[in-house]
Amino acid sequence: RRAAAMASRNFDVLRSPVICVLGHVDTGKTKMLDTIRRTNVQLGEAGGITQQIGATRVPAEALKERCRKARNFDPDSVKIPGFLIIDTPGHESFANLRSRGSSLCDVAILVVDIMHGLEPQTIESLKLLLKRGTPFVVALNKVDRLYGYESNPQKDIYQHLKAQSSNVQLEFKERYEKIVTEFAENSVNVALSNQNKNTDEYVSIVPTSAFLGDGIGNLLAYIVDYSQDKLAERLAFCTELDCTVMEVRSLPGLGTTVDVILLNGTLKRGDIIVLTGTEGPICSEIRDLLMPAPLREIRVKGDYEHYASIQGAQGVKVLAKGLDNVVAGLPLFVCRRSDELEVLKADAQKQLEKALTSIKKKPEGVYVQASTLGSLEALLEFLKSQKIPYSNVNIGPVHKKDVQKAAAMLDRNAEFACILAFDVPVDRDVQQFADRENVRIFQANIIYHLQDNFINYREELRLKRRRDNEHLAIFPCRLRIMPQNVFNARNPIVCGVTIVKGQLKKGTPICVPSKEKLFIGTISSIERNHEVVDLAKSGEEVCIKIENTTGEAPKLYGRHFTDKDDLVSRITRESIDVCKTHFRDDLGQQDWQLIVELKKELGIL
Ligand code: GDP
Repeated sequence: RRAAAMASRNFDVLRSPVICVLGHVDTGKTKMLDTIRRTNVQLGEAGGITQQIGATRVPAEALKERCRKARNFDPDSVKIPGFLIIDTPGHESFANLRSRGSSLCDVAILVVDIMHGLEPQTIESLKLLLKRGTPFVVALNKVDRLYGYESNPQKDIYQHLKAQSSNVQLEFKERYEKIVTEFAENSVNVALSNQNKNTDEYVSIVPTSAFLGDGIGNLLAYIVDYSQDKLAERLAFCTELDCTVMEVRSLPGLGTTVDVILLNGTLKRGDIIVLTGTEGPICSEIRDLLMPAPLREIRVKGDYEHYASIQGAQGVKVLAKGLDNVVAGLPLFVCRRSDELEVLKADAQKQLEKALTSIKKKPEGVYVQASTLGSLEALLEFLKSQKIPYSNVNIGPVHKKDVQKAAAMLDRNAEFACILAFDVPVDRDVQQFADRENVRIFQANIIYHLQDNFINYREELRLKRRRDNEHLAIFPCRLRIMPQNVFNARNPIVCGVTIVKGQLKKGTPICVPSKEKLFIGTISSIERNHEVVDLAKSGEEVCIKIENTTGEAPKLYGRHFTDKDDLVSRITRESIDVCKTHFRDDLGQQDWQLIVELKKELGIL
């Protein structure tokens, strides 16, 4: 297959490289895309976090214009027809860009804020890039925030840096070197792009200001050169179809359409296509192919141009019937011969099964459902970082069978009997079914909201469980009676005590270990400095009242026990378990030590 693919490659005709932007939140990814595309989508997005998918083609002419600013760049050397830039920055869209397990993204731009260095999502992105073997360049962004920096987007960034004041140069050097070290700590060697003699070993860094435009010419020039030098074989146009569904969208008047990245090969009107669906493989015929005008986004409403045939690499909107259940993040196949159809259908379905079964799950955890493989992957990554386990995953709308699967957790760990539904619909009857089954469904279109909802719910559950178990949680304490402060010697015993160790809580049963664990009653009130309290801590002196409501003969201070005998909480195996499960954080290390001591003294196994 590879030989056949090679044979059909044409090294004189290069396709546009597909470019993705990754990095930590707020490093300037969206701004970077805006600056490269000279559009502004930042304001219109939900919660400021862009989650829709489209692509922008930046034609060679526009690239030449921008790259001119980089010194030593020869505009006549540009052989690629342009860039195909994925509009949505971040992990999710990068993860959606896959074909048969490998990445469709040819070059990634990893944006790092020069003022912040490597941040958690930078490192996540870095890992993902290394795992997929995707080449990338680092945009060291926000150089304009160096104190005293003077901007000039028309100049080569390296020459321009040299012309800055010595303070600016010094600050740049310090910050840059710190970031080089941070990359090294993540096993990546980096070097400034104008000094990088070995791009196989060293990842290039380009200083930029996405905000003002400084360094953007250098960044683009670097990607052009790198693509043509290092990726020529990969970018050689190939007739074998390589096409991935990025997004499934329902549009007024057009029905459900799929936005695809056509990397290689040609799509034509009338082609029979095979796609992966949530309910099985989907086979349909291309009715029309749409693309926006150059330097416009595919998802801007209206203004589409119609095509009978389109050659990669392009972002294309495909119109066909029956695309409702298509799963984004997987390939689109074209059936050229009728005997291929069944094979392609089986292949399409296997893609999803393979992707879902390859995800490692825990025996106990939430049920996660997402609209695309990319968003699922991003969400799972996120849950992992939040230490929220998941036991099952699925793609597409929430069905009753998903609710049933999630309900299986009710027996194991009820807090996980819930579905985190990311950007997928839940029908009313499914919701009603879930209510009956006691399965909570959390729905959101922004990952962070979903997480917030789940965490709030978890906290609610935790507090409820504490309330339910409060009466069973016996906190450990050791008390010493103050003999001059015994106000009542029998039921109720009222006396002053020092809390030698542990925590004294209202409701605690008290016994005397030195008198064969004699039970004397339960703490019914605590006073500290004449003020009623529910809890007192080690070192404090309080007045307590011990009542015995069991009906047994009351135990008498001075006869059954004296101030020479310590009083302690009568803990039990059960109370220890309750404390461990629900009140672990209420007890400190000393308290847990005391529990161990009391276990011995009271002979608890
Ligand atoms: P994203 O979350 O990575 O997409 O970051 P945005 O593109 O939304 O940028 C986050 C904030 O940083 C916005 O307020 C931008 O205006 C600002 N920003 C982005 N790039 C630069 C830059 O080069 N310089 C400065 N000073 N601010 C920037």
